[in-house]
Amino acid sequence: MNIPESTSKILIVDDEPLNIEVMSGALEELGDIMFATSGEEAIQLALTEKPDIVILDIMMPGIDGYETCRRLKENPETENIPVIFATAMTDQADEAKGFEIGAVDYVTKPIVQPIVAARVKNHLQLKRYRDYLETIAFIDGLTGIPNRRSFDQHLRSEWQRGIRTGSDLSLLLIDIDHFKQYNDTYGHQAGDACLALVAKALSSSVHRPGDQVARYGGEEFVCVLPSTSLDGAEAIGATLREAVNFLKIPHKSSSVCDHVTISIGGAHVKLDKDQEIGDLVSAADANLYKSKQNGRDRVTIG
Ligand code: GH3
Ligand code: MG
Ligand code: MG
Repeated sequence: MNIPESTSKILIVDDEPLNIEVMSGALEELGDIMFATSGEEAIQLALTEKPDIVILDIMMPGIDGYETCRRLKENPETENIPVIFATAMTDQADEAKGFEIGAVDYVTKPIVQPIVAARVKNHLQLKRYRDYLETIAFIDGLTGIPNRRSFDQHLRSEWQRGIRTGSDLSLLLIDIDHFKQYNDTYGHQAGDACLALVAKALSSSVHRPGDQVARYGGEEFVCVLPSTSLDGAEAIGATLREAVNFLKIPHKSSSVCDHVTISIGGAHVKLDKDQEIGDLVSAADANLYKSKQNGRDRVTIG
């Protein structure tokens, strides 16, 4: 697997500065070192800096290493950061407790530098694989934009946020017109290339944080527009339609015109607890159907 290289961030947590120094010496070649001298400080740093691994002392004043690890594991923002305990304790029951709380490994003090380095290197490699797999699991392989799984997750989270703040949310369903005929005329590979071009044009037409264009399936795309009114969604719909028209991808067998066009159906909600995600998608779908019925290459929202 060809995994993009990046510099790892290593967080060392120990109340004894000398221990931090020795541990840093062992790990400095493996990434950028950060350190904290208490559990509380470690949790803060983990949240803001998102380290790739945490080397955690167990006995510390304030919250101890176990409690620190427990808190890291219960927060979705930090739960996937691997934790290695470093401690003078050699009791097997303590070691088991560390694993139970969610640690991936254990090293004992006084530390043997090459062994600690080898272990941390292994765990960093595993973390890199995991991060990479997680990234590609949410990307559509053909077009490089977010896939259906990513859309489902994104819409759910924007929906929850919208309920908390009582905001608007709009959704656009986008479907390429006469795409079957496009494939039949130009071949499936040209069809794939066309999908990639359309995906790129759509994605680069939305800019606000929270806006997302994803591949919904086949030749259909979906656009999530948080905090966007009906008028706003209509304007974005028009922009998307124009962006695809502007590509002027030849489509000689289309009944609409001589190039590739899209039809869009949109829907909007002012969020509160009583609404269903499925209803928003169905409303957008019904409007997409209307756009198709009324001649394609158009936006229907309501
Ligand atoms: P309409 O204007 O009513 O949307 O007609 P259409 O031909 O676009 O719709 P239809 O649902 O009949 O056909 C969709 C076509 O999209 C059929 C399918 O082969 C093609 N398609 C779906 N996914 C892919 C893909 O990944 N690559 C290619 N090349 N074609 C695809
Ligand atoms: Mg379709
Ligand atoms: Mg279509």
